[in-house]
Amino acid sequence: MKLFYSPDYVASGVSFETLQKPAWIAESLSRSPIDGVAIEEPESLSIGTVEETHDPIYVSAIEAGEPGCLAESQGFRWDASLLAAVLASNGGVVAAAKQALQTGRNAGCLSSGLHHARREKGCGFCTFNGLVIAAREALHAGAERVLILDFDAHCGGGTASLIKGDPRLVQRDVSVDRFDHYAPQANAHLQVVTQAADWLPAICRQLDESGDFDLCLYNAGVDPFEDDEGGGLRGITREHLIKREALVFDWARSRTLPVAFVMAGGYLSKKNDRAQLVALHRITVRVAAVTSQASHT
Ligand SMILES: [Zn+2]
Repeated sequence: MKLFYSPDYVASGVSFETLQKPAWIAESLSRSPIDGVAIEEPESLSIGTVEETHDPIYVSAIEAGEPGCLAESQGFRWDASLLAAVLASNGGVVAAAKQALQTGRNAGCLSSGLHHARREKGCGFCTFNGLVIAAREALHAGAERVLILDFDAHCGGGTASLIKGDPRLVQRDVSVDRFDHYAPQANAHLQVVTQAADWLPAICRQLDESGDFDLCLYNAGVDPFEDDEGGGLRGITREHLIKREALVFDWARSRTLPVAFVMAGGYLSKKNDRAQLVALHRITVRVAAVTSQASHT
């Protein structure tokens, strides 16, 4: 299974963990590899590809650093290295999507910070919406319908706003925190869960109710974890996250639906240190790799 990562993902001047975390996971995988996982460097996106989804005025602000209200609209301090980092990491999402579509196998990208970004600005630590960019690139590459699963702690309101009116792209979203919630729309289904016991059943229901697709993009945040201060819900444990990944990837395998996943949310706190955070993200990589091999060989 290909897992796309490049040191270019990491913006040198931005200490915020969303932009540092890919390197921590990559280091862990080089120290302690997961069977069947091959890390590959993707091509960075062109500005033109980003501008099919984002307003050129906003893209220019990320390039130049001004106006500051746009350049820092995602919520962290702008740095001259930011544009190259987000072009690289969003390029990895596109590469994973194309890889999965073309081979029928799962693929992944060690990127975070995608689903809150809007057409004209960033939001919630998300600069460009690589999920929507990758979904559109998959349509260009021959997919007819693309499913976006968003099981991050927070709602994917940026994605919902960007795909509105395009029936070829459908979002299924189960969240445990109302940040970036949105009104239901024909192609974006949101359920906000407030009790841990309801979380996996809600995910099962969203999977059961989805139709036929050529590709699944999976925003696999681990911030629903109870010790995550960014969005955790009491009672959601490491075992719940293992079960979630088994549900998602077994469901996809049963439909021969290739999945391209990204890391998404997962934040440090006193109770959730770097080693634990990396270990939670490794669950997604491991389950994706196992099911990718089992489903298509
Ligand atoms: Zn989140």
